[in-house]
Amino acid sequence: MKESNALKLSIKEAEQIVGGLSRPSKMPGYAYGLPAEKCKTGSKLWYKKNTICSDCYALKGRYIFPNVRAAQERRLICLHDFRWVAAMVTLIKKRKMDYFRWHDSGDLQGLWHLLKIIEVARACPETRFWLPTKEYEILLQANLFGEIPPNLVIRVSDIYMDGTPTIIDNLPTSGVTIDETKFTCPSSRQGGVCGTCRACWDVNVQRVIYKYH
Ligand code: SF4
Repeated sequence: MKESNALKLSIKEAEQIVGGLSRPSKMPGYAYGLPAEKCKTGSKLWYKKNTICSDCYALKGRYIFPNVRAAQERRLICLHDFRWVAAMVTLIKKRKMDYFRWHDSGDLQGLWHLLKIIEVARACPETRFWLPTKEYEILLQANLFGEIPPNLVIRVSDIYMDGTPTIIDNLPTSGVTIDETKFTCPSSRQGGVCGTCRACWDVNVQRVIYKYH
C-alpha cells in the first residue's frame, strides 16, 4: 500500500480533504462530481451541434444550485491534495460502499487524475466503480490495456447523439439516443432510478444507450 493510502483519517477529515461526495437520487450509492465547465473535452463541445455535451444535464436543474456548484468547485481544488487517494479510500471503506460513480458531473482533468482513481479502485476491491469519460486523449496516454482493476469500469462516452462508439483499449462504451426504440438504460421506465439495474458497472455490458431527455 502506498504511503498516501496508509494515513489514518476519520470520516470527517476525509470529507474535508476530498471536498465531500454527491448522492444522486437516481443511483444506488454515492457519486463524485466536478464542475462541468471544467470538462476539458466537453466544454469544447457545448457549441457543437448534435453533441451530447451541447445539452449537458450538468449545466441545468439541481446542478446549478449554488451549494452544488460550490461543492464541485471545492472538490476540484481538493483533487490536488496529496492525501486525496487516502481520503477517498477512507470514505469508501468506512461507508462500506458497494457501488460508486465517478463524475455525475465533470470529467477527468488529466492522466494524473485517472491514475489516482485507479489507485482508489485497487485499494477498494469490494466496491464497484463506474467511470464514464469523453477524455479519449487521457485514455490513450494511459495505455490502460491490462492495467484497469476488475472493479473499475471505464466507459467511453460518445461525442454525438446517436453516434457510433469509439473503441479504446476495448473498453465498454455508452451513448445517448433520441430514438424511442434504441435506448437500453431502463431508468426512464422505472421512475428515473437505476433500481436493480447495474449495467453501467458491469464490464460485460459492452454498450449502454441512455434515452435523451
Ligand atoms: S443502465 Fe442501469 S445502471 Fe446505468 S444508469 Fe441506466 S438504470 Fe442505472
